[in-house]
Amino acid sequence: MLTSIVGINWGDEGKGRMVDLLSEDYDVVVRYQGGNNAGHTVINEKGKFVLNLMPSGILRDTVVNVMGNGMVIDLKHLSGEMEKLSAAGVRIDETNLKISDKAVICMPYNVMQDCLEENRLADKKFGSTRRGIGPIYGDKYLKKALRMGELHDFEKMKARLKDILEWKNLTIEKAYGEQPVKYEDMVAYLEEYGLKLKKYVCDTGLYLNEAAEKGKKIMFEAQLGALRDIDFGIYPFTSSSSTISAYAPIGAGIPNRKLDEAVGIMKAYSTCVGEGPFVCEYFGDKAEELRKAGGEYGAATGRPRRVGPFDVVASRYGCRMQAASQIALTKLDVLSYLDEIEVCVGYELDGKRIDEFPFPDELEDCKPIFQTVKGWHCDISDCRNPQDLPKEAYDYIRFIEKAVGCKITYVSVGASREQYLIMD
Ligand code: GDP
Ligand code: MG
Repeated sequence: MLTSIVGINWGDEGKGRMVDLLSEDYDVVVRYQGGNNAGHTVINEKGKFVLNLMPSGILRDTVVNVMGNGMVIDLKHLSGEMEKLSAAGVRIDETNLKISDKAVICMPYNVMQDCLEENRLADKKFGSTRRGIGPIYGDKYLKKALRMGELHDFEKMKARLKDILEWKNLTIEKAYGEQPVKYEDMVAYLEEYGLKLKKYVCDTGLYLNEAAEKGKKIMFEAQLGALRDIDFGIYPFTSSSSTISAYAPIGAGIPNRKLDEAVGIMKAYSTCVGEGPFVCEYFGDKAEELRKAGGEYGAATGRPRRVGPFDVVASRYGCRMQAASQIALTKLDVLSYLDEIEVCVGYELDGKRIDEFPFPDELEDCKPIFQTVKGWHCDISDCRNPQDLPKEAYDYIRFIEKAVGCKITYVSVGASREQYLIMD
C-alpha cells in the first residue's frame, strides 16, 4: 500500500497532523521534497512538535522514516531538530531514520544567497523563507550541488566543494559585492554537521523498493500544497520543488512504483504565507478575526498568514493536480465563531465568470465571487462522529465535497491527534 499525504491548497493545511494520525497503520513515512522551509505541527501524547525536515512519522515508535532524494537538507538545521526531538524523548537511530544518499545538501552559502537576493529585490521580494531553498534547487539542476552520499568519501567531496565554491564565489563576490565564502569554513561545517549523519545515509530507494516488495505500507509526506508546486502552482510565487503526489515515488527513490491512494489535505478556509496572488483574500477586521481564530502564524517562520474563505476554484484545481482519491478537511472548528460563512465559489475575470483555475498571471485580475452559507456558531471540537455535528457543519462539509468533486473522508475539529471524525 503506497499512500501520499499532500496539500491541496497553499500549504499549512495540517499535513503533519494527518500524517501523525494516519501513520499508525503504516510501516514507513517518507518526505520526498522540500527542505526546512516546511513547518509541520504535530500535537499528540508526546507533546507539541514542529517538524521542518524530519518526517512526521518519527513520533511513532513503529515507523521507519526516510528523507528522500527529492529533499534538500540543511545539515545544521537537521542536527538541531534531531537534538530537540531526542531531548523530548523521541528515539532516533539508524533503524528508524534513513537519509537518501542522493538527497542534496543545502549549504550556508545557499542561505546567504537567498538573503542577498531577497534584500536586492526589496519591495519586489518573493516572500522567500530565506532558508536557501530556491538557490539550492537551482544548484541541483545546474549540477553544482553536494549530495549526502558524498560524505562517505570526504576527500573526494572536499575536492568537489572546492570547485563549486570557486564558481559560487563569482556570484557572491562579483554580483553581490560580498566577501567570498571560505573553503576552510565550509569544510569545517561539513565536518561538524555532516560527518555525524553519515550513519543514516544509504540507498533509500533500494530500501523502499524492498519494503514495497514485502508488502510494507509506505506513506509519502508532502511539504506545501498544489498551489506552491514549481510547475502547477502560482509561479513564480511557488516553492522550488514538486509538491504534487505524482512526484512522490520519484522524490522517494522508487519511480518504478505507483501510488494506491492520494489523501489530499484541504483546509476548511484559505491561508497563504508570503507573496503572490490570492484571489479570495480577506483584509482588515474580517481577516484579523479569521487569522486569530485559526492561529494563522507560520510554524517555520512565525509570519502572519494571509487568510480568506474556502476557495472552490483553487481547491478543485488542487484536487486535480494532486490526483486526490480522498480528502481530509482540516480546521473546521475554526469557523465556529461565524454566523454566516462565505465561500469563494468562482472568479470573475474581465466581466465573465470562470470556474477553472487560470494561468497564474491572470489571477491578479480575478475577483472572488462569494456565496454565503449558514454557520453553526457552537463548539464542535468534541465531535467524533458525523452524527455529532450540527446540521450546518455537516451541510458545509457536503457543500464543499460536492463543489470540489472529491470524497471527504476525514474531518479534523482540533489540533490534537484524536480531534477528528470519519465521514459516512
Ligand atoms: P502543515 O504544514 O500542513 O503540516 O500544517 P501546519 O502545521 O503548518 O499548520 C496547521 C496548524 O493548524 C498547526 O498549528 C496545527 O496544530 C493546527 N491544526 C491542525 N489541524 C487542526 C484542526 O483541526 N483544528 C485546529 N484548530 N487546528 C488544527
Ligand atoms: Mg506548515
